[in-house]
Amino acid sequence: MTALEGLVGHWVEGKHLPGSGERRGDVYDPATGEVRRQVAFAEEADVDAAVAAADAARTAWRDTSLSRRTAVLFAFRELLATRRDELAAIITAEHGKVLDDAQGEIARGLEVVEFACGLGHLLKGEHAEGVSTGVDVHSLRQPVGVCAVISPFNFPAMVPLWFVPVAIACGNTVVLKPSEKDPSASLFLARLWQEAGLPDGVLNVVQGDRVAVDRLLAHPRVRSVSFVGSTPVARHVYETATAAGKRVQALGGAKNHMVVLPDADLDLAADAAVNAGFGSAGERCMAVSVVVAVEPVADDLVARIAERARTIRVGDGRRSCEMGPLVTREHRDRVAAYVAAGEADGAKVVLDGRQVEPDADGDGFFLGPTLLDGVRPEMSVYTDEIFGPVLSVVRAATYQEAVDLVDANPYGNGVAIFTNDGGAARRFEHEVEVGMVGVNVPIPVPVAQFSFGGWKSSLFGDLHAYGPDGVRFFTRGKVVTTRWPEPGGARGLDLGFPRSS
Ligand code: NAD
Repeated sequence: MTALEGLVGHWVEGKHLPGSGERRGDVYDPATGEVRRQVAFAEEADVDAAVAAADAARTAWRDTSLSRRTAVLFAFRELLATRRDELAAIITAEHGKVLDDAQGEIARGLEVVEFACGLGHLLKGEHAEGVSTGVDVHSLRQPVGVCAVISPFNFPAMVPLWFVPVAIACGNTVVLKPSEKDPSASLFLARLWQEAGLPDGVLNVVQGDRVAVDRLLAHPRVRSVSFVGSTPVARHVYETATAAGKRVQALGGAKNHMVVLPDADLDLAADAAVNAGFGSAGERCMAVSVVVAVEPVADDLVARIAERARTIRVGDGRRSCEMGPLVTREHRDRVAAYVAAGEADGAKVVLDGRQVEPDADGDGFFLGPTLLDGVRPEMSVYTDEIFGPVLSVVRAATYQEAVDLVDANPYGNGVAIFTNDGGAARRFEHEVEVGMVGVNVPIPVPVAQFSFGGWKSSLFGDLHAYGPDGVRFFTRGKVVTTRWPEPGGARGLDLGFPRSS
């Protein structure tokens, strides 16, 4: 029995291990509702073994030349590109998203690998000659050491790929703790890294739950923590790990708005709302959750969204469907409960996903596209992150009312504005309190040359993921001031604070 058919274990020093404890979790196929395999849950001893492996590999990897590191990154890039179909199948089997969407997350992860392939350029320091008489200064960027990466269920490949390639390129070693709901992608990636020539111990994986996370947050040899998940856990991770003296970037939940101004192209806006609201069954941190329709276009826009959403084929992601199931039965029921609460609070259910008839065998965790109109900011369907295929329409009288609504929301991950008015778009991008803004683009996930991060309760910490911020996060700056004394040059005591001369 191979690991992917039986137990999904840990990956420590290049070996697949069952771990020291007995605790296990079920891994489902969300499209059929069946348990397909089990995942080991790490005990503290398993985490300690993984950190010890990363710590042991640290110095040699740090001292490996940039050209050798670059060769590993390029080899990994090629392997990932070549074997993406296998990885997509693993993602779909455990997460449920349709195969094409799984391919999309791999493509966005590949972008970050390609960015990290430029490490020779990214890690260059600066040099200033003659800052004082006979004195030069140069700066270095050096690895931080053992880095922990803790990822959520909704992007089992892309989110680890936001961090791991950049951390490794910068000369760090890594312990990855993936989501226990879809753990197999992490092992597939770990094997690809090994095949690409990454020395054993540079990347380790521990599976599990809070026990593993909390040990990583407390472990004295872990120097940085990159977390992505829900806001309550992100806050816990940030507070605990910073109190333990670690560098932390903790990306949290979201409630993304899409503002549609009256002059917008309504067909374009309706397409975008449907794609970004129901793609991946709404289980994206950049999914559109709220459409803010600035009057008088709401009736027209709702009709166009409903017309399109009705045509979405829901079912098993391995068939030619457009939207798959939710990740677990509990999550599906929780999302359905929000729809019921919205209805009870007075929202109009324009399209009811609770009645979906999916193209799938068995008892999968399906909920169809759901459209709620007349949602008001005090309803739970508006205040809470739902993380499912539920699109709420809030009506606003003016542009200012729409912006005030977005700014009052505690989350600030992504936002979009749909308009043909360049002046309004420019004003919006300038004043809106959100980290990633799309202008006629509904899911403004930055390309890998830029960095990804939200504001407010969507990110704790200063530095965003990947791109230039990723390089800063995974390195420490060092500045060296040098003088080579000349024979017969100035000498002698001077207890004053050094001044340039
Ligand atoms: P989650 O917070 O439940 O889990 C994230 C990780 O933390 C997992 O590895 C999990 O095992 C671990 N974990 C869960 N509970 C914990 C606890 N009490 N203590 C310590 N560790 C714990 O999130 P999820 O359900 O896997 O993912 C969905 C969430 O992630 C949504 O809120 C979504 O918005 C968010 N997300 C955010 C971004 C972003 O970029 N801001 C990206 C993807 C997902």
